[in-house]
Amino acid sequence: MTTTIAFIGLGNMGGPMAVNLHKAGFKVTAVDLSADARARVAAEGVSVAATTSDALVGAQVVISMLPASRHVEGLYLGDGAANAGLLASLPAGTRIIDCSTIAPASARKVAAAAQARGLSMIDAPVSGGTAGAAAGTLTFMVGGEADSVAAAQPLLQAMGKNIFHAGDSGAGQVAKVCNNMLLAIHMIGSAEALTLGVNNGLDPAVLSEIMKQSSGGNWSLEKYNPMPGVMAGVPASRDYSGGFGTDLMLKDLGLAEEAALASASAIPLGGLARNLYAAHSASGAGALDFSSIIRLLQKKPA
Ligand code: NAD
Repeated sequence: MTTTIAFIGLGNMGGPMAVNLHKAGFKVTAVDLSADARARVAAEGVSVAATTSDALVGAQVVISMLPASRHVEGLYLGDGAANAGLLASLPAGTRIIDCSTIAPASARKVAAAAQARGLSMIDAPVSGGTAGAAAGTLTFMVGGEADSVAAAQPLLQAMGKNIFHAGDSGAGQVAKVCNNMLLAIHMIGSAEALTLGVNNGLDPAVLSEIMKQSSGGNWSLEKYNPMPGVMAGVPASRDYSGGFGTDLMLKDLGLAEEAALASASAIPLGGLARNLYAAHSASGAGALDFSSIIRLLQKKPA
């Protein structure tokens, strides 16, 4: 029998992920607070519901793809009598897969509350960007019990290519935080090197090719060049619209700092990256893709 899925959160990532589940033959009912987001997936043939409770009717699996910890805790745990949260009403046996990037402690808290109600929950944050979400080639970093992770495999495979079981509940989020801290660092480093080269007379496309084939090569240069005009189809080529928002990267760097404090880990470059993204966001760039950090580095004294 086809698995029935309620998909909650149809933004830059969740929208294409819901579409891929639908294309793979799962029975998906999708919902988002934004009517535009609902209309985008409806145009791809996915059933949409106007409210979360409508989307949940008959759902065996709930998948969420929301911005941050507070949205995920609000959805599942509620925030008072007026909003009791989904865990209070989901039938026992419902399986929950949260793909949002949130604090490991939040993921563990919601999973423990779910388990207490006879529900299973895994954290399954992703990497691969909006292009990976659209192509169904995301990497999933999963935390939770082995049988829940195994049961989720067919769904994750419809949305992604690499699926890693990182460990117990929250472990997927820890892996994601480490990965995104490194992403921020090599994006800033790549933007800094490209800007230095251009300011010294180099063509950024030529410099990018040289560094990609040399010891400076990294994912930001290979897949997500931050300099406009070098690479087609990336946010830099469309004024930094779409993609992975600066404020979402800033959130992830805050999660890295929390994890570092909790474990007495030194993250000097992660801390510096967070400060640079905070300054960039404060300059009004919060909604632009995170590769727009190059604009901060391109500024020169008047
Ligand atoms: P987004 O802001 O584009 O989308 C989030 C969506 O959630 C919005 O459409 C919003 O309306 C909806 N939403 C919020 N609260 C809701 C609720 N209670 N019910 C229903 N809908 C609700 O964000 P995104 O870029 O899709 O990212 C989602 C998550 O994935 C974030 O945690 C982000 O850090 C992570 N992520 C993003 C990327 C990327 O490249 N964009 C890559 C990897 C991971």
